[in-house]
Amino acid sequence: MRENFSSPNNPPWLARWMDANGVALWGAADLDGFSTPPDPNGRPFAFAVSLVFPMNPQIMAGIQNGPNQAYADEYARVNQRINKISEQLAEKIVSTGYTAKPLAASVRSDPVHIRADFPHKTAATRAGLGWIGRHCQLITRSFGSWIRLGTVFTDMPLSCGPALEKSFCGTCMKCVRACPADALSGRTWHPGVGRDAILDAAACDNWKKKHFFAYHKGHNCGICSSVCPYSVKTLKNDRTAEFRRS
Ligand code: SF4
Ligand code: SF4
Repeated sequence: MRENFSSPNNPPWLARWMDANGVALWGAADLDGFSTPPDPNGRPFAFAVSLVFPMNPQIMAGIQNGPNQAYADEYARVNQRINKISEQLAEKIVSTGYTAKPLAASVRSDPVHIRADFPHKTAATRAGLGWIGRHCQLITRSFGSWIRLGTVFTDMPLSCGPALEKSFCGTCMKCVRACPADALSGRTWHPGVGRDAILDAAACDNWKKKHFFAYHKGHNCGICSSVCPYSVKTLKNDRTAEFRRS
């Protein structure tokens, strides 16, 4: 079963397109007031479609002591799929007369501050798809945090959200304790709590480059995500096989 967090007021072709392309979970985000990459007129986009792509749970469960080649391959496979689907969705939106721009997966446009053009997870929380856990990643109810995200900005009017504005991590600290770089503060997320209050991105990045350089030049770790109970519980009811297209 696919999940559609999008309002029935959205263009009917959108849900059909997601179904036909095997997108597991998606929604529409109101980005009014956010600084997105610019549209062709140099203005921010008002909306985004947020896309969730599950990863193979068996592989994710196997990286509690650090990444391996299976995880690196899965990371590359899912990123390729995100980029392909995001580009195709943007083309489809443009064909209906609107502007659209896909946000590439895992591209750091600002390597100094270890940031992308826009956080995929911000669009996802605005679309109501999940919250940001103490490991600084999006957690969905269906797939936990064993996912990767895509984003397509657009000026196509969309009925959005409601945004998710609360963490459901409760008193759990498993990811914080598991992080070998001591990079997670344990702070609870809510809108307005920035990444730097939750994650020491430099400590995380340095650890990965020092210890896991063999995997995408130190882009992979995943230890914090591998222990998250919201993710681990998906092993019991693995619904991801039908979405693991290449
Ligand atoms: S990815 Fe690894 S180093 Fe970075 S916060 Fe998670 S566990 Fe720590
Ligand atoms: S491991 Fe626990 S604290 Fe960390 S993100 Fe998952 S639920 Fe939240």
